[in-house]
Amino acid sequence: MEMLIDCQNMSVGYEGQTVINDLSFTVNTGDFLSIVGENGSGKTTLMKTLLGLKTPQSGKIVYGDGLKAAEIGYLPQQTALQKDFPATVKEVVMSGRLSKRGLRPFYGKADKARAEEDMKLMDILPLAARSYRELSGGQQQRVLLARALCATEKLLLLDEPVSGLDPSAMQDMYETIYRLNRERGVTVIMITHDLNGALRYSKQILHMEGGMYFFGSVEDYRSSDIFHTMSTCDCRCCCDHHLNKGGRADA
Ligand code: ADP
Repeated sequence: MEMLIDCQNMSVGYEGQTVINDLSFTVNTGDFLSIVGENGSGKTTLMKTLLGLKTPQSGKIVYGDGLKAAEIGYLPQQTALQKDFPATVKEVVMSGRLSKRGLRPFYGKADKARAEEDMKLMDILPLAARSYRELSGGQQQRVLLARALCATEKLLLLDEPVSGLDPSAMQDMYETIYRLNRERGVTVIMITHDLNGALRYSKQILHMEGGMYFFGSVEDYRSSDIFHTMSTCDCRCCCDHHLNKGGRADA
């Protein structure tokens, strides 16, 4: 297993204010890391830093396996404006190839073939000519996942990919991400508020809360203090979590 991301004693913030303080963790090829924790704990800030959009105040991120920030597939948190984006499904997916296109004025054959392959994989090829804004929430998330996948062979960063989805679309999305990880070997880092989903599908957990961090396997997380003393869990499944001590959704 090769190291893909090594985050070393990293602190990140905005205008002098530190949001992430002295955080260290490692992601290896094939890992599936879920990032959980209260709102405002710095999860999205961490993702932006992994993407190279923010510079750490101190510490550093080392990329392994020849990974460059531009080769990371990113599914951002959906805003109301994005949900109403006036473009076809194909155009949205193709935009995942922008960083590969470089200075070429048009997409090439390889870009088009890759977009088609990823649309097939996400089961959205029949929707290719449809307007993105007319799709259901679950379909839109599949389009954004295909777009992120178009940008990478190696690493997907997903910011709340199941947020706002109904239980069946949520399950579909999780299963799809799980298959990408287990069958295609794509490394996944996912922010989620759904603790049960994180426990069920991922291999590692990074829990960020009140400046405290836990990083380790799902198994170690279940027996950690932070898991058992969590007081401000704002996930939709927190009742399950508190009553069942985080039992699997299917247990
Ligand atoms: P999370 O994703 O865990 O909810 P964020 O990374 O979005 O947390 O935010 C962490 C903290 O950083 C919050 O206090 C938020 O107000 C602050 N923050 C986020 N983005 C900015 C920004 N662009 N400028 C200033 N402060 C920000």
